[in-house]
Amino acid sequence: MSAAYPFSAIVGLADLRLALVLNAVSPAVGGVLVRGEKGTAKSTMVRALAGQLPEVAVVPGCRFSCDPAAPDARCPDGPHDPGIAGTTRAARLVELPVGASEDRLAGSLDIERALTEGVKAYEPGLLAAAHRGVLYVDEVNLLHDHLVDLLLDAAAMGTSHVEREGVSVRHAARFLLVGTMNPEEGELRPQLLDRFGLTVEVAASREPRERAEVVRRRLAYEADPDAFAARWAGEDAELAERILRARRVLADVVLPDAELERIARVCASFEVDGMRADLVTARTSIALAAWHGRTEVTAQDVRAAALLALPHRRRRNPFDAPGLDEEHLDEALRDPDEPEPEPEPEPEGDGPDGGGSPPPDAHGSDGSEGSGRSDGPDAADGSGAAEAPGRTEAAPSSAPGTEDAPVEGAPTASGGGREQAAVAAAEPYRTRLFSVPGVGQGAAGRRSRARTASGRTTGSQVAAGRVTRLHVAATVRAAALHQKARGRTGAGLLLRRADLREAVREGREGNLVLFVVDASGSMAARKRMRAVKGAVLSLLLDAYQRRDKVGLVTFRGAHAALVLPPTSSVEIGAARLAALPTGGRTPVGAGLLRAHEALRVERLRDPLRRPLLVVVTDGRATGGGDALGESRRAARLLAATGVASLVVDCESGPVRLGLAARLAGDLGGPVVTLDELAADGLAGLVRDVRSVA
Ligand SMILES: [Zn+2]
Repeated sequence: MSAAYPFSAIVGLADLRLALVLNAVSPAVGGVLVRGEKGTAKSTMVRALAGQLPEVAVVPGCRFSCDPAAPDARCPDGPHDPGIAGTTRAARLVELPVGASEDRLAGSLDIERALTEGVKAYEPGLLAAAHRGVLYVDEVNLLHDHLVDLLLDAAAMGTSHVEREGVSVRHAARFLLVGTMNPEEGELRPQLLDRFGLTVEVAASREPRERAEVVRRRLAYEADPDAFAARWAGEDAELAERILRARRVLADVVLPDAELERIARVCASFEVDGMRADLVTARTSIALAAWHGRTEVTAQDVRAAALLALPHRRRRNPFDAPGLDEEHLDEALRDPDEPEPEPEPEPEGDGPDGGGSPPPDAHGSDGSEGSGRSDGPDAADGSGAAEAPGRTEAAPSSAPGTEDAPVEGAPTASGGGREQAAVAAAEPYRTRLFSVPGVGQGAAGRRSRARTASGRTTGSQVAAGRVTRLHVAATVRAAALHQKARGRTGAGLLLRRADLREAVREGREGNLVLFVVDASGSMAARKRMRAVKGAVLSLLLDAYQRRDKVGLVTFRGAHAALVLPPTSSVEIGAARLAALPTGGRTPVGAGLLRAHEALRVERLRDPLRRPLLVVVTDGRATGGGDALGESRRAARLLAATGVASLVVDCESGPVRLGLAARLAGDLGGPVVTLDELAADGLAGLVRDVRSVA
């Protein structure tokens, strides 16, 4: 195996480097979330961290990495002798693949062996392997929901717990959580976001000399990894040594009351939830002082710590990108008894390079409110990752609340130029139930039929693979037939693996309802857009009650955009819908292709959640060229994935083309008119009455 890329050889990424080093100095800081586009070496840097971590002392042979000085009292490989001699090994960086199974993460308990042989057979998972090390999740935003839950539980308790049919195992699992994500592919759940001590935004440098250096080193590494690593070994060793020194002084670092009060002031002023922000900022300040070889926290430490610890904790719309207003920060940092300082040179205004620390990466942490806003879900549109840094730069000039900043930037943006302000939605109403055909296995909800963990038991089946829900009666019945042949003499039933029966239960699941809403000029008549928004709002409320996830793709002008990446927050969906402007030509095909991509990503993240695609359009495709043909091809492409769909036909007026119905045919799903959407068939009537009034 060739040498890994050395930590010290990575160019730039100063904020990320610091955040990782601080965690190495003080694991109590609690990990790092790294946000940024692809191709920024963020994963390379995280992986290189392993080489910089101090070695750990472990009990020999213990699969749970017990510390010989303080072995886990409940260690499944224990109990260990209190005086046992330890060995040291390198700290581990364990990677959790986004598609891992629950067993792989938490470990697997062999219930068959427990029932048939009476032994507790437990195979440790990645949480055990990561104990006292780093758990790294690349594309953490694509992690399956059930893995996120397991991870949150383990992180909160510091233990991993597996239970199957009354047999349970528990072991210590304390690890640094490091995640990387590309925000264009969707955001993290707030609870998971809060679990990361620090966040760092990274972007590729726009400095030509620095870009050239990145390529130069990469090529040198690829040509001869071992020689390249050898050239950097000295620097890496020096860094590791400095981390060790910092660890040694860590316990002696004093956090003066004045600085603690400064931390409290800053956290209060950013309206963070709970106390975690204060704690993490305090721990990070202490680690920073230790890293600089000091034994007292200074105001500069607090400022630097706040920039890393607070961006993802300030109260905000979960779909806004993290970022901290530095002017606000400096105001909050100032001691109220101190006189106002002379105005300093503005860090903002002259663009992203004014941050202070090494120029090329400094902009990462000063993504101010303005740039944060426009970098949210809109960044997920199809306009290409290469544009991202430019977008950040341009953003502060765009007015708050412009949901379509990237679209506006494009020259062909609004087609006919007849853009309209957002139209308010009509009053919502109760809609008919639309469900996904077949029987799914998704999370509990109230939409489509599904095999579920709860729900009513509809039968039993021979257990295939690991048994999680034993059907006791069916198992006993299966075993009873063989008791004589197995030579049973006593009272106990002789069980064999083949007897095990699993309960089959049926209930309802929640789905992913992905809306594809036509917001183009052909739909833009105010009255009609009001009705369309009312219809989508009604379906959104229905989705909320049925515990669905919702997502929203819109198309108008030259672009389709994923305005709302799949989320469980229907409130945000409603807000996005309300703010949706209309106008421009109609690239129906682009909208469908964007939906196709969003569904692909979501299948990766949450494979058991079956999607329902709801296309709201009149079916007209006026994007120029063979727009109609393109939309039909995109529809067939979607149909080929087997996604269940529904077209809501918004055509109105005396001349009807029936294009939406044809689109529904291509998608392989039903079509309903706006009026047919309501549970009581009164939607149209109510709307008409309203528009007259
Ligand atoms: Zn142990």
